[in-house]
Amino acid sequence: MKALVFDKNGIENLKYSDVDMPMIKDDEVLVKIVKSGVTQLDYMTISSMKVNPIPHIAGSEFSGIVEEVGNNVNNVKEGDKVAVYTRTFDGNCNYCKRGLEMLCKAGRRIGIDENGGYAEYVKVPARNVIKANLDWEIMPALSISALASYHALKYSRIKKGDVVVVFGSSGNAGLFASQLAEIMGGIVVSVTNNELKVSSNVVTYTEVEEAVKNITDGEMADIVVNPLGSKYWDLGLRLLKQGGKMVFFGTLSGNKVTIDLTQAYLRHISFIGTVRGTFEEFRELTEICNKCKSFVWKEFPLSNGKEALLSLFSKERKGRILISI
Ligand SMILES: [Zn+2]
Repeated sequence: MKALVFDKNGIENLKYSDVDMPMIKDDEVLVKIVKSGVTQLDYMTISSMKVNPIPHIAGSEFSGIVEEVGNNVNNVKEGDKVAVYTRTFDGNCNYCKRGLEMLCKAGRRIGIDENGGYAEYVKVPARNVIKANLDWEIMPALSISALASYHALKYSRIKKGDVVVVFGSSGNAGLFASQLAEIMGGIVVSVTNNELKVSSNVVTYTEVEEAVKNITDGEMADIVVNPLGSKYWDLGLRLLKQGGKMVFFGTLSGNKVTIDLTQAYLRHISFIGTVRGTFEEFRELTEICNKCKSFVWKEFPLSNGKEALLSLFSKERKGRILISI
């Protein structure tokens, strides 16, 4: 099969090559990949992260059609359209028993610790796939972009009428956080510099403080969703009302902040770190996301994967980048 492989870190080392077809075990399925999302995580995986196996196939968000099932598999069958939960889990540890599969002690990240979705085929444990009938353009986002956003919103206990500010709202996570917060009843203020209309209120970083003041009569926001990290931390704190919550799950703009603890506790601020999402949330998204738009900016063939990854940093970028296989 064809795949984008690399044997040492660096986008320049990506090669579109022929590799062996994966062989499935009894509890695994072979998925013929249809769409893969292109994300900063994939970029980091290829450029700087420790991966396994080597040569490696990256790709943390993907979906496709079941090509073959192992002898013990009964949750899906050949020909099913499936979304893939791209962290493996054993179902047995204390975290799995509490439904926190993304924290499984034995879990591995598909696309990083195992081969991922930048290929024609991938093998994954059957328990990681779920039948879904969403548009192909949406499906790969269920693996991480939509899932991480949905989990962050649920964990921050969003309720109807909450004012929710989303940073990086035209990025992979932000555009789903904006849409999902609105679907969940929030009054959403999406913050971006490129005007992508992902929710009712879209503003720039220089406009957001004034916008939130106006919308809330000076009370300020209930929740700030920050997938971008330290650069926007202080702005996020200024946007929160007393008792507000900052939920964060990414560090693209940096990972070190200084917190004035006196201010934080006197204002009763919660800081909530989250990572990916639970399998149950992943399942819920197969229904909820029929209301989501994909906001795909560009699609590339697998053979142009290098170009797809580099276009993550294009100034013209408006929305998601997919690889079509
Ligand atoms: Zn576990």
